[in-house]
Amino acid sequence: MEKPRIAFFDFASCEGCQLQVINLEEDLLKVLDAVDVVSFREATKDHSDDYDIAFIEGSITRRSDEPRLKGIRSNAKVLVSLGSCATLGGINCLKNFQPEAYVRKFVYGDKAHQYETYPARPIKAVVPVDLEIPGCPINRQEFATVVKDLLLGKKPEIPNYPVCVECKMAENICAYERDLACMGPVTRGGCKACCVTEGSFCWGCRGLVDDPNADSQREILAKHGLSVQDVLGKFRLYTGFSEVAK
Ligand code: SF4
Ligand code: SF4
Ligand code: SF4
Repeated sequence: MEKPRIAFFDFASCEGCQLQVINLEEDLLKVLDAVDVVSFREATKDHSDDYDIAFIEGSITRRSDEPRLKGIRSNAKVLVSLGSCATLGGINCLKNFQPEAYVRKFVYGDKAHQYETYPARPIKAVVPVDLEIPGCPINRQEFATVVKDLLLGKKPEIPNYPVCVECKMAENICAYERDLACMGPVTRGGCKACCVTEGSFCWGCRGLVDDPNADSQREILAKHGLSVQDVLGKFRLYTGFSEVAK
């Protein structure tokens, strides 16, 4: 039986999500056994436009990115966004809150006029996306599970409960009890609240749960005199493109 052909592409990103795929090590070998990787710039020089599943890392930051992305979309049966840059616009959207001339000058100096740029946006703002794997970077085990599900024809399940759920299961002391703000009540879980477990707080890298305003975990915010909008206003690191965060 012919193996599914998969391809990886990157737009504006640090390539850390693709690195997570390479870091799968033994699990990567199992994935590679089940598929043909026809394009993966971080791992091989080979390239083909004949693929079934396209994984896309990075956000769209230039008008000239759009035809390339649309070409990938038209070649792929399934298109998957990888990581917060691709799914949310992510950290690249920080520039959207600054005047474009300032951003150009800051990054490109006296060569600013030579470089094209426009407000950063996620993949789904330009083409339809079939599935999103969140995180900065992605969780490599979640990636492996998603690939396995796709190969089995199953719909992958990405959690839609807040980070607080896993944080409480990990028996962490809440960041709010430590006088820190935390995005956990409104952020999609699935990371086992690793940042809080390591002594920090949630920065919101997995994006918002589907309806943060209806989320029962907002009671944590209320207890500390905050609303969903208050916490969204404190954190723009990953959610700057989101309507609800504006
Ligand atoms: S989501 Fe994070 S790790 Fe992945 S490409 Fe963007 S900045 Fe890098
Ligand atoms: S608000 Fe943050 S620290 Fe507190 S329970 Fe939720 S995820 Fe954990
Ligand atoms: S705790 Fe928050 S910032 Fe850390 S990995 Fe999970 S979603 Fe991302």
